[in-house]
Amino acid sequence: MEENTERTVNIAIDGPAGAGKSTIAKAIARRKGYIYVDTGAMFRAMAIYLLRKGTDEDDEEAIGRDCADADITISYRPVAGSHTPEQRVLLCGEDVTDGLRTEQVGNMASKCSVVPAVRDKLKELQRSLARKENVVMDGRDIGTVILPDAQVKIYLTASVGVRAKRRYDELIARGEEADLDVIAQQIQERDRRDMTRPVAPLTQAEDAILVDTSDMNVEQVTERILSIIKNTVI
Ligand code: C5P
Repeated sequence: MEENTERTVNIAIDGPAGAGKSTIAKAIARRKGYIYVDTGAMFRAMAIYLLRKGTDEDDEEAIGRDCADADITISYRPVAGSHTPEQRVLLCGEDVTDGLRTEQVGNMASKCSVVPAVRDKLKELQRSLARKENVVMDGRDIGTVILPDAQVKIYLTASVGVRAKRRYDELIARGEEADLDVIAQQIQERDRRDMTRPVAPLTQAEDAILVDTSDMNVEQVTERILSIIKNTVI
């Protein structure tokens, strides 16, 4: 008889902003029939809560205090033509998913994510999803802190220039204004903050496999990770 029959499959994908984590994680989840868990969305929902409350983004004590009452939950809704449901983030019962991906929210998410009270609050939500379902979870500390026993850990990265250009193209495609140099600066600043914070910094787990996507397209990265999954566990 097989051991650990109860254990769900957990695939952790970490890496810096703009490395392509969510696109790739979604593609892997779709191909494997797993649930995609976007943990950045949880920090972004927290950011919306703090922005609405008017919390000072540079006051870590105030963030630690104010985050206590934020009620963040995740639900999944079916998507027409796909067997992978879509993650929706609820903030105090309100679906805020469509407002998560602005630069203002991203910057506040990056700032509030250094505060231990914020990380603690979201940690259990992330772990409970991984206990219940086979997941592909992306973030910054999934392989190192949240799911240290994940069967597959990927550290996805790309050069700053490539990541900035991807974000720039995304914004332009959405009809928004964008300045490539400003985006590159913001990415560098976010990297610095994510990598140097004392709690759960962004770093490659010892047992994570590094995938540099600078010269790869989405299909190539997806195939590479699927082959890692195949060779590693399943
Ligand atoms: O990945 P995304 O850009 O949506 O994440 C927003 C911010 O949330 C990141 O800049 C990072 O600071 C923070 N974050 C984190 N830990 C995670 C996911 C996101 O600190 N697991």
